[in-house]
Amino acid sequence: MILKNKKVVIVGLARSGVAVAQFATQRGAKVTVTDLKTKSELQSYLKLLAPYKKIKYELGRHPLKTLLAADLFVVSPGVPLTHPLIEQAVKKNKKVMSEIEFAFQFITVPIIAVTGTNGKTTTTMMIGEMLKNAKKKVFVGGNIGNALTNMLLSKEKVQVAVAEVSSFQLEHVESFQPKVALILNLTPDHLDRHGSMENYRKMKGRIFQNQRATDVLILNADDDLVKTYAAEAKSKIYFFGKGQLSEGQEGVYYKEGRFYLKTKDLGREQYVTDQIKLKGDHNKENFMASLLAVKILKCAPEAIQTTLNTFQGVPHRLEYVKTRGFVEFYNDSKATNPYSVMRSLESFTKPLILMMGGRDKGCEFEILRPLIQQKVKTLILLGEAKEKINRAIGDYTETFLVGTLEEALFMAYQKSRAGDVILFSPGCSSFDMFNESGK
Ligand code: ADP
Repeated sequence: MILKNKKVVIVGLARSGVAVAQFATQRGAKVTVTDLKTKSELQSYLKLLAPYKKIKYELGRHPLKTLLAADLFVVSPGVPLTHPLIEQAVKKNKKVMSEIEFAFQFITVPIIAVTGTNGKTTTTMMIGEMLKNAKKKVFVGGNIGNALTNMLLSKEKVQVAVAEVSSFQLEHVESFQPKVALILNLTPDHLDRHGSMENYRKMKGRIFQNQRATDVLILNADDDLVKTYAAEAKSKIYFFGKGQLSEGQEGVYYKEGRFYLKTKDLGREQYVTDQIKLKGDHNKENFMASLLAVKILKCAPEAIQTTLNTFQGVPHRLEYVKTRGFVEFYNDSKATNPYSVMRSLESFTKPLILMMGGRDKGCEFEILRPLIQQKVKTLILLGEAKEKINRAIGDYTETFLVGTLEEALFMAYQKSRAGDVILFSPGCSSFDMFNESGK
């Protein structure tokens, strides 16, 4: 794609918008940045663009007439398809793309792209770590806070890019074609934005829509919805799952303390799992998916085993914080939907005091009932969604509704006894009360 003298509008200035603005300006494009937020709200990002004097700004508003004169629109993941500017641009047959689609136009190395409802960041980091341990020069980014476009801005030589890809970024892809695509799982999330589960499924499926037979799609054999993608892909498919793979499936499975790789092209290997530091079966799934992805890039088995033994996890994902008065504290603040809370609850055997709540994204919490009854001795609810969660699961254990996170923590500690675990796993996005990214 030639950017010289092209009029490019960047819609939404977060981290990915900054990277696109920098790269497009370097390539000679005429860049305008627009955002409904004001100059003072965007200060930290604007500072990064200060050296790029030619960039124009339309902040606090989206003047359609001026903006629609552009050739190309690069849309931030935070901006929905229904946004009037995007609707108008599409209507006028303008090129509209997400940041990953934009970066893809210029990237020449293989891309490993990771999506799914839960586990994207963890798996992206695992893959990055395995490749680093195999001495490959790797860029790790995407939705993780390091835009794919940053790879293009860096002078460092990269052999492979690993990108976390959200459903929002997939709304505007046309030619994005990763060498390896992973779909980890699919459960209801972000339905306030995507409208229905079918739409959400369709959006996630765009990760492989341009793949050919020489590309690879990695799917979760134990997720009935994810498995249905197999019939739609042209790609070579590998599965990961528990117990055994079905007849005709190739990939990796977990059984009695080992991962078994069983494929024609990637061979047969075994890995031991007894040194894994991360809690939960869901992290075994993430490891199996990662293992397959890096095998395709010819990563040595030793590097994979080393990563299984040493990877420490990612902060805020079922993260052990401390032990006080024989009570363990875990922070799982990135559990932003009921299914990730479910997997967290499954990971513990000790009595739990669970703190949940935040902003309601339209999720259903009823699926948590059996685990709340079995494992949670006290449930403490907070945030905008607390009434809704209380109605769904509050009758299944001792439950309290509180006003702030501090109150929740205070009550959790008061209610705890030696041997308990206090777990913060909100099951909601957090931006009604905490300053988080709102994933
Ligand atoms: P994402 O980037 O998709 O939000 P993260 O790796 O940040 O995923 O993890 C978010 C939450 O999901 C955490 O609570 C984590 O423990 C949980 N989680 C991680 N992997 C999985 C998985 N494979 N299935 C279900 N939940 C998971």
